[in-house]
Amino acid sequence: MRPIDRASPNHGPRRDGAPIDMLLLHYTDMATAELALDRLCDPTAQVSAHYLIARDGRVFRLVSEQRRAWHAGRAWWAGESDINSRSIGIELDNPGHSHGYGDFPEAQLVALIALCRDILARCPIPPHRVLGHSDVAPDRKIDPGHRLDWRRLARAGIGVFPESPPPAELDEAAVAGNLARIGYRVGAPRFADPATRAALEAFRRHWTPDALGQPLHPRMAAMPAAVAELIPKAEKKLAPPRVNS
Ligand SMILES: [Zn+2]
Repeated sequence: MRPIDRASPNHGPRRDGAPIDMLLLHYTDMATAELALDRLCDPTAQVSAHYLIARDGRVFRLVSEQRRAWHAGRAWWAGESDINSRSIGIELDNPGHSHGYGDFPEAQLVALIALCRDILARCPIPPHRVLGHSDVAPDRKIDPGHRLDWRRLARAGIGVFPESPPPAELDEAAVAGNLARIGYRVGAPRFADPATRAALEAFRRHWTPDALGQPLHPRMAAMPAAVAELIPKAEKKLAPPRVNS
């Protein structure tokens, strides 16, 4: 895979020597890849990402991985709020919920898997820190949305996805506790709390997309615990960072 260079001016230095330890996936929410590229390269738009993958599988490189691209905006994960300083951002060309949300085509997924595997081989990003924009900004973002096949990505070594956890009792405090363990910013340990509800919706978009919008049932209630359970195991699998000689 050879990215096509399409330099964006929208970047700055990564702050405080933060390590690159997160990979964030987005959709563009624009009608065409060309429109999205124009916007991500427009100095007045003040937005960018490191890569954009078109629906036909072409990969565009907009910002050097060494630089801080401007894709996450106001965000929070596991105690960190400067997500841009420690992440690589990939935009997936998709009309999004604004222009008729569609499936991610096979060519685009194949390119995404290849690009992610390439990044993960070079950067010390643990599997559980491969996330969607909605995970780190659940109160204001829903991208990349429920159509992204996170299970398939995990089977390709990208991110974590428990296969079939046994049903669990539906306990709001336990679910909220597990969302917090995973990294979400939650409020009070009940679903009526706006922050907790937003985190739960983001979780469902990512890990139980088939049941999005339906009442939470015991099989789905088991997923937050199952994801939280994978985090320490995933960390142990993390290979040491590659040393240049
Ligand atoms: Zn986004």
